[in-house]
Amino acid sequence: MPEGDTVWRTARALDRALSGQALTATDFRVPELATVDLSGETVVETLARGKHLLTRIGDAHTLHTHLKMEGAWRIQRPGLPWRRPAHQARVVLTTPAAIAVGFSLGIVELLPRDREDDAVGHLGPDLLGPDWNDHEAVRRLLATPDRPIGEALLDQRNLAGIGNLYKSELCFTSGVHPAGPVGSVPDLLRMVRRAKAMLEANKERAEQTTTGDLRPGRRTWVYRRERETCRRCQTPIAVEMHGEAGRERASYWCPSCQPR
Ligand SMILES: [Zn+2]
Repeated sequence: MPEGDTVWRTARALDRALSGQALTATDFRVPELATVDLSGETVVETLARGKHLLTRIGDAHTLHTHLKMEGAWRIQRPGLPWRRPAHQARVVLTTPAAIAVGFSLGIVELLPRDREDDAVGHLGPDLLGPDWNDHEAVRRLLATPDRPIGEALLDQRNLAGIGNLYKSELCFTSGVHPAGPVGSVPDLLRMVRRAKAMLEANKERAEQTTTGDLRPGRRTWVYRRERETCRRCQTPIAVEMHGEAGRERASYWCPSCQPR
């Protein structure tokens, strides 16, 4: 699942490619929007709010999209073959200079401009947004002190932008077990500031690293390293599914560095 930094880069790419351009064609390949045609409208801007994308079109419309698990926006010159199978396309926005295709998007909806809060009003402080506020993020996390920290970090109502990679990496770098309660984290403010630093450090590049090492196989402390050993203490990395029923996600941790 794309994390907040990946969504931020996607928003910037869409913004650079489309803003100020008049749409020559639009194609919404979801049943609710099948008859909508926004050609002739001008794209105002695209911005990220947590892991949500808002593309403002004309005076009245905002296209709200979310990558969820498999989604991606791809931008290319008109006339070139698409980079994913056409049946995965959910939105096609065409301008004279570029085509933006949203593939396998988890959410595609068109909102009135003044209803954007319906899509993103529930979000906590955005790690890469203008509203970032580390103390407010801590306050929201501490509202449920008994909740597992891994689960609370993924809840976008607490702070927006963390996915499964950063969840596991933050728990490791803070020395806490992902299933341990929020209230037991020794320095929550330091943890959320570290989250901000991790996303900021990675938002400009395609490869994410939390170790500072960009070489393949060396980019994470614990994430997807369940067949390997801890970089600090050589204990085999553990993996388990955690989270609310039906929404479980894999957690990776070092049983020595992050005792339960
Ligand atoms: Zn360890």
